[in-house]
Amino acid sequence: MKKCKCHTSTALGFRDWKPFQECAEERFETIPQEQGVYCFRIGKGDITKLKKIKSAFRESPLVTAFDKMRIVSEKVSKASNQLFNDCGLGQEWGLKFPNYAEALEYDLNGIDELPGNDGCPILYIGASDSLRERIKNVMEWKHPLSVPLWAFLYSGWTIQVGVRSITDNWNEEAKIKREYKTDHRKLPFIVKR
Ligand SMILES: [Zn+2]
Repeated sequence: MKKCKCHTSTALGFRDWKPFQECAEERFETIPQEQGVYCFRIGKGDITKLKKIKSAFRESPLVTAFDKMRIVSEKVSKASNQLFNDCGLGQEWGLKFPNYAEALEYDLNGIDELPGNDGCPILYIGASDSLRERIKNVMEWKHPLSVPLWAFLYSGWTIQVGVRSITDNWNEEAKIKREYKTDHRKLPFIVKR
């Protein structure tokens, strides 16, 4: 396959590619509030070291803390079950909590899908009715790219963001993806449809 043009400064019609770290530091205030399309790509990073990235992230204080949280959640679940039973409410009423440790591991394993397309740096193509909110979602664990992106950054990668305001955002997203698929035969990384 011939090398794609997704490394260039005008890749997929996006200009002003900016490091994600810079956007986050600015609390995403330089990202437009209005609707549009957006894209994430690798600025600097070695995609042959994916195993290392995963193991480094698993040893991070975040994963350790989520593991502890799981153990505490189980204790609270048991204690509440006991309390409700003591109150004469019967068994199996124990409070349930999300297993964040498991969810984090699941999302982290999404990294296995890289390299999606031989050397192509594009990680994600999307559209939103509020670009700023959507990019911010990555920091709130509300975006499919959240955990992989944190893991990449934790291993010293640079991730770039491109945004473009456009009112016909959903059609534009479909058009970019269609063109991307024509050039690369499949969609990038964790983009499913
Ligand atoms: Zn490409």
